[in-house]
Amino acid sequence: MKTVLITGAYRGLGFEVARQLADRGWKVIVTARKVKQGSTAAAEIKNASFLELDVLDDSSVANVAKQVPQLNALVNNAAIIAENDQDILTIRPELVARTIAANALGALRVSQAFVPLLLKSSVGRIVNVSSGAGQLSDMGTWSPAYAVSKATLNALTCLLAATLKDKGIAVNSVCPGWCRTEMGGQSAPRSIEEGAAGIVWLASDAPQERTGLFWRDREVIPW
Ligand code: NDP
Repeated sequence: MKTVLITGAYRGLGFEVARQLADRGWKVIVTARKVKQGSTAAAEIKNASFLELDVLDDSSVANVAKQVPQLNALVNNAAIIAENDQDILTIRPELVARTIAANALGALRVSQAFVPLLLKSSVGRIVNVSSGAGQLSDMGTWSPAYAVSKATLNALTCLLAATLKDKGIAVNSVCPGWCRTEMGGQSAPRSIEEGAAGIVWLASDAPQERTGLFWRDREVIPW
């Protein structure tokens, strides 16, 4: 049975990715920094277990890595967006740093911890849940800290993909589109199910040789 670990998975897109992969017969490790919410969420999914994981915390990540015996896919989904993330001319650089720490360096920390395990499976995948907001080719003014964090995450995708290319691990970024989650808000055009589908595809069915790319709706989009 294939195993996937998903960060920030007690709600929103992470939870739905967990649910969809479980429906396809995957063993799912739901992780979250909130223990009560995380274990409740995992209990709602068949073949799912829960582990406490804060992507900002080295020891939390190391502790989870010790408990996972086998892994085929890692979905770096956890992210934040601050309410006062509004104007590049006035935003406090510390807020930009905090957002990069959660959204990009968190994914790096977790990836570093799990690459050794992914290398042991015949084919491994890392899916970095990014955003069109991080596209350098289409950078607007919206949520500058979040945009910089997702552009940073995309750079990490390229670096990890190049490093792992000949080692059987595909690393990709994916934009789920604007979805009705706590982060996306209720006026977003997409359902959680639609947003999760592209992430699930990259974690499971996408051609293994496609790596180092940015995707939306199963199509490559510009960085
Ligand atoms: P949610 O806000 O619903 O979920 C984000 C999850 O990340 C929460 O479970 C949150 O948990 C968790 N998280 C945040 N910080 C940490 C941390 N340090 N350690 C562990 N977990 C953490 O958002 P979505 O489901 O909408 O977003 C999922 C992904 O999709 C994100 O990467 C987001 O940037 C991306 N995305 C979403 C879009 C949308 O329209 N919804 C559009 C484009 C991209 P906690 O309560 O503990 O903070």
